[in-house]
Amino acid sequence: MAYEPSRSLGALAVPDRLLLTPGPSNIHPRVAGALASPVIGHLDALYFEIMDDVQELLRYAFQTSNRHTFVLPVTGMGGMEAVFTNLVEPGDRVLVCVNGFFGNRMCEVVERLGGELVRLEAEWGSAVDPAAVRRKLAQERHLKAVAIVHPEASTGVLHPLAEIGAMCREHEALFIVDCVVSLGGCLLDVDAWGIDAAYAGSQKCLSAPPGLAPVTFSPRAVAAIGKRRSRVPSFYFDVLEQFRYWSEERVYHHTAPINTVYALREALRLLHEEGIEARIARHARNSTLLVEQLEGLGLAPFARPDVRLPPLTTVRIPTGVDDRAVRQRLLNEFNIEISGGIGAIAGKVWRIGLMGYNSHPRNVYALSHALRAILGRG
Ligand SMILES: *Cc1c(COP(=O)(O)O)cnc(C)c1O
Repeated sequence: MAYEPSRSLGALAVPDRLLLTPGPSNIHPRVAGALASPVIGHLDALYFEIMDDVQELLRYAFQTSNRHTFVLPVTGMGGMEAVFTNLVEPGDRVLVCVNGFFGNRMCEVVERLGGELVRLEAEWGSAVDPAAVRRKLAQERHLKAVAIVHPEASTGVLHPLAEIGAMCREHEALFIVDCVVSLGGCLLDVDAWGIDAAYAGSQKCLSAPPGLAPVTFSPRAVAAIGKRRSRVPSFYFDVLEQFRYWSEERVYHHTAPINTVYALREALRLLHEEGIEARIARHARNSTLLVEQLEGLGLAPFARPDVRLPPLTTVRIPTGVDDRAVRQRLLNEFNIEISGGIGAIAGKVWRIGLMGYNSHPRNVYALSHALRAILGRG
């Protein structure tokens, strides 16, 4: 044997942290149990039944009857990449609404695909006004798609979407939506809102482990992919190729991440048992409680109150308070992780997630208690 590790490698020892970040969130014990189930083959008929269950449960979560509702073996960003790679060809004009970091990411993806980008901006902390989308649609010609991040996780803003889908139909544009934080935590109605393509992430409000991107495509989106002038430039990210494995064809595409899919199934079962309305109400209640607690410590919310994203609260870091030192103490002394700002508001805000399993009053009180001790306030 030529190579021996230089250290003695002990068994994995990972602390049980409270993850109050914009993902990953902690997982329910039932989800952990599903994850630890035996591995079976990705072409086993039993596994196909599990895939069918996941599709049914995802249709419930997305509120859609779209046949093309399934899971990609990638994180949320991979879902973004897949959706745009299939729907945007070189020269296609795409309107992207930008009010934060993830809107900028969409722009980057569109440009890398050779799309012609049209940006519609709103200030970080506020939402893009649907009326501005309407004006832009009337002004700009031949827009193939309108894209928007429903829950802008950099600023903690939830975009009102209900009216935009109908505007897109009038102008024959596809409506593309990032639902990474909103699926399973906020009101989201893919069919009623006329959304043509949406992607999410397993590790946010669904409280499953990271690594899966639920996606859904309307018949209009599927037809648009069928009418492409060129082949989808990626084999792995060709969603219709992947769907052949999720449909009755069951054609091998890749070896599925079996256990993560078990975990997602269990997480979706928990969502279904609770019911979407109750789940949304729970996220709203605990977020209100968190904002009250933070305000009690003299901390001011960052996002505008009318467009706040319940699963993810942003709060301004008071002047004179050391961002990193506070987060380090939360982690080291209280075993709680929260996130700092990203992009234009790095160092200016904290981002606090109460997602899925973690949206519970005991977590709000655990955090406010710890912050009170660290900041020496109240
Ligand atoms: C987290 C997040 C993403 C990226 O997801 P990853 O799983 O980190 O790749 C995209 N969009 C939004 C709104 C997010 O919150």
